[in-house]
Amino acid sequence: MRLFLALMPPPALRERLGELADTAHARCGGRRMPDESLHLTLAFLGDVEEASAAELVEWVQGLTIPPGEWHLDCWGGFRRPGIVWVGAQAADPALVRLQGQLWGTLEPLGFGTRPAKFVPHVTLLRRAATLQLEDLPPIELPWSYNQLELIESTTDERGVRYRSLAISQG
Ligand code: ATP
Ligand code: MG
Repeated sequence: MRLFLALMPPPALRERLGELADTAHARCGGRRMPDESLHLTLAFLGDVEEASAAELVEWVQGLTIPPGEWHLDCWGGFRRPGIVWVGAQAADPALVRLQGQLWGTLEPLGFGTRPAKFVPHVTLLRRAATLQLEDLPPIELPWSYNQLELIESTTDERGVRYRSLAISQG
């Protein structure tokens, strides 16, 4: 099973992010992420055996994370996959700490590898035709969170779908 840990936006923020995805799509083209898939990845675990996935479900269900507020204030792009995202100009210490703590548990257990660099972002478009983001409107969005989710990523003929397997305490 292909798994990752993520923050899922609360409904009102999801809607705002969806509007930003529409705006970006009109400007940059590509494939717009559906509203229900919008998320912030904290840890990508990759392929995990079913037995290990069951352990992860238990762990996440018992987990409490420190509540925080992340401030989205910029557009960004990853050139090679043509990704357009929204995120923050400055590294957010609370998110960096959270990501570090998660990997502090996951890595010794053999769940994937801690990435060399953590760039918190919400992907809005993939395979964009252009990454010229200069004329896009300014962003000022707070994201209050107190829970993370364990998500399974599956692919079918309609594309990638995410399914929540577990939610932390909160
Ligand atoms: P697709 O790959 O088909 O475009 P997707 O990227 O939405 O779809 P996944 O590849 O399953 O679906 O990725 C799930 C989440 O994990 C996404 O947020 C993605 O950016 C992230 N992710 C995927 N691969 C990695 C990786 N090697 N390192 C870090 N994060 C990753
Ligand atoms: Mg991917």
